[in-house]
Amino acid sequence: MYDIIIRNGTIVDGSGMPRFRADVGIAGGKIAAIGRLHENARETIDADGHIVSPGIIDAHTHMDAQVFWDPIGTCSCWHGITSVVMGNCGFSLAPCAEKDKLLVMRNLERAEDIAPEAMEAGIKWSWETFPQYLDAVERTPKGINYAAYMGHSALRTYVMGERAFDSEANSEDLSAMKRKSARRFAPARSASRPRAPATIRRPTGIRSRAVSRIGTRSGNWSARWARKARACSRSPAKIPAWIPNASRIT
Ligand SMILES: [Zn+2]
Repeated sequence: MYDIIIRNGTIVDGSGMPRFRADVGIAGGKIAAIGRLHENARETIDADGHIVSPGIIDAHTHMDAQVFWDPIGTCSCWHGITSVVMGNCGFSLAPCAEKDKLLVMRNLERAEDIAPEAMEAGIKWSWETFPQYLDAVERTPKGINYAAYMGHSALRTYVMGERAFDSEANSEDLSAMKRKSARRFAPARSASRPRAPATIRRPTGIRSRAVSRIGTRSGNWSARWARKARACSRSPAKIPAWIPNASRIT
């Protein structure tokens, strides 16, 4: 007995091998079987005419503000994206105290065309530090997973204020950024649902342990699926034996 069976879908597993028709059985929150499944499940989803694939990770999004008013993460979720990373190009909403929020909003308005009025209306500002921002994201209902970098622009504005927009950072500014970010980052925390680790880059170039965990996991995953894809590419017309009774799409 599975918890869920997704039946009749066309599977594109991301390994590079041809798509194929099969059912997917899920038990305990994990894929337990792929193939033609004759067992019952508590819930059956008919995916006939649909693609069944792993969730896509979007490594560069600007959901930092939107997460507070859009629980399902549109339009990323409509494209099959199940995990997003925020802050990748240096813009984020933390660190920043509420009294200075117009400064970081100005960053997002200039670079990403997000209206400050929308951010004013949609965000209940409850943080100053980056970990506090992650906590706020953690408390927010979410339909997809979120991870975050602390944006350099926010850190720069946090340290330099208005000067951040037209002045070069001096050595005192730089050491304040380094000091504040190092202090704020211990320990790295998750901003995700249910338990994806946060990804945080320190200005020194040292990555947090959370980041290396992601690296290790994705490394293992890639290697495993690359092996399967290689096995498949040797005889591309054949569905591998580890997927019993699946039918090939021609
Ligand atoms: Zn960007």
